[in-house]
Amino acid sequence: MFRPKGPVCQSCGMPLSKDPLGGGSNADGSPSSEYCSHCYRKGVFTQPNISAEEMMKLVEGKLRSMHFPGFLARRFAREVPTLRRWRGRVTSQAARPRPSELQPRA
Ligand SMILES: [Zn+2]
Repeated sequence: MFRPKGPVCQSCGMPLSKDPLGGGSNADGSPSSEYCSHCYRKGVFTQPNISAEEMMKLVEGKLRSMHFPGFLARRFAREVPTLRRWRGRVTSQAARPRPSELQPRA
């Protein structure tokens, strides 16, 4: 699995160790331990209205621009909805019934 070490941004999944600023900042100027400087500055999200799906596209595009292979970029982007910012907000695919449950009982 592609699992970076250390804390990652809970909005986009970027390792905070890769953040040129070392992370975002809270309203009082203290460093945020949860979000990177691209997502969160001075206590507010830089893109407050973005959806998890849009963030996934953004992350995938960003990784591709960094010459990540497509399959890795997609795999990384799929982790986005599991991050704290998006959890509970995403209406991911509704649980589909398994084929066995569609069969009428004999
Ligand atoms: Zn981020």
